[in-house]
Amino acid sequence: MRDQGARQTIRRIARENPAARIVATGCYATRRPEDVQALPSVVRVVRNDDKLDLVDLVGVSTAERFGSGDGPCGSVLGPGIAGRTTFTLRLQTGCDQACSYCIIPATRGRGRSLPIEAVVLEATRVAAAGFKEIALTGVHLGSYGRDHEAPTSLFELFRRLQAADLDVTFRVSSLEPMDCTPQIVDLVAGSGGVFAPHFHLPLQHGSDRILGAMGRPYTLDGYRRLVSSIVDRLPHASIGSDMIVGFPGETDEDFAANLDYLPRSPLSHVHVFPYSDRPGTAASAMPGKVDGAVIRERGATLRVIGAGLTARFYDRQVGTVRPALTLEDGTIAVTDNYMKIRIPAGHRRNEPVMVRLTGPRVGLVVAG
Ligand code: SF4
Repeated sequence: MRDQGARQTIRRIARENPAARIVATGCYATRRPEDVQALPSVVRVVRNDDKLDLVDLVGVSTAERFGSGDGPCGSVLGPGIAGRTTFTLRLQTGCDQACSYCIIPATRGRGRSLPIEAVVLEATRVAAAGFKEIALTGVHLGSYGRDHEAPTSLFELFRRLQAADLDVTFRVSSLEPMDCTPQIVDLVAGSGGVFAPHFHLPLQHGSDRILGAMGRPYTLDGYRRLVSSIVDRLPHASIGSDMIVGFPGETDEDFAANLDYLPRSPLSHVHVFPYSDRPGTAASAMPGKVDGAVIRERGATLRVIGAGLTARFYDRQVGTVRPALTLEDGTIAVTDNYMKIRIPAGHRRNEPVMVRLTGPRVGLVVAG
C-alpha cells in the first residue's frame, strides 16, 4: 500500500471507530514512524523487525496499563513472545496500590490471589498436559498472597513451585520494582533454570519527582540498584521496563532524567507508552498536561534508545548457548532469557533445545 493510501486507511478507521486504538506496522511505519504515530488514534508503531513480537509488544505490558484487562497492571492477557506454546497461569487480580494514572484499583477492586495449593495443583496439571513453559501473571503479581487469611508472599509461592520439581520453566510476567525483593532475585538465580532469567520491571520514569506524582513507591536510585543486583547474579538475564512519556507536569528536565539513565542501563527491552488521561484517576485531574506533539517526540526518542538497548543485548548474547523452547513450525525458538531467534528446520513445536547464538536473532541447535 502506498504511503498516502496507508494514511487514508488509518484516518478512515479512526473516523469510523472513534474508540479504536490503532497499532500500525509495515514498511511505511518502519520508514516514517513519527509520521504514522502522528495519525489519529495511533497508539503504537511497530517496526517490521519487531513484527514477530507484535502481540507481545501491544498485549502483555503497559500497553493497556490504562485499561482493565487481566494481565499485569490491566494489560490484555494474550499470548506473549512464546505464543500459545507457553501456558499463562493467572494467579492474582485486583490491586491495592494507588498509581495516580491507573484505573485498575477502581475497576478491579482489592487484590485477590489463588491459594498456593491451587497454583501448585494447576501447574502440575499443566506440566502433565505437556506444556514446557508456564508464564505466571497477575494484575499486581507482586502482591500475591497478601490477601490470604494467613498472609503469604510471591517468594513463598515460588519456593513451593520450585519444590514441586515439575518438568517446566516458569517465566514471571511483570513485577513492580518494589515487589522484586532480593529473596526473589536469589531464588531465580539459584533455581537452576526452574525460573527463567527474565525480569520485567516497569520503571515508568527516570525522574523521582514524576515517580512521586505517579504514586510509585521507589526512586530511580533504588531501581538502578535492583537492576544492578540482578545483572550481578544473572549476567545473561533479560530485563525489560515500561516507560510512560508525557505524564502531567513532565518538564524537559524530568524527561532528561530518562535520557540520562536508560542508555547507560543494562536493560534489554523498553516499552514506551504515551500518557493519556483515564477519567476518574488522580492524574487526569492534575495540571500541566503535556502537548501531544511533545509526547510523541519524547516517545519516539525513548523508542530509539530502547531499540538500541535490545540490539546491544542480542549482540552481546552472540556465541552463548542458552536453553530455549521451539515455537510455531519449529524454526523459531525463545531462549530462557527472552530472545526470539530463528533456527534451522528439523524440530517440532514445544521442544526444549539448547541453542548456540550464531548471530543476533539466529542460532543453531546444539542439543535437543
Ligand atoms: S501497581 Fe499501579 S499500575 Fe499496576 S495495577 Fe496497581 S495501581 Fe495500576
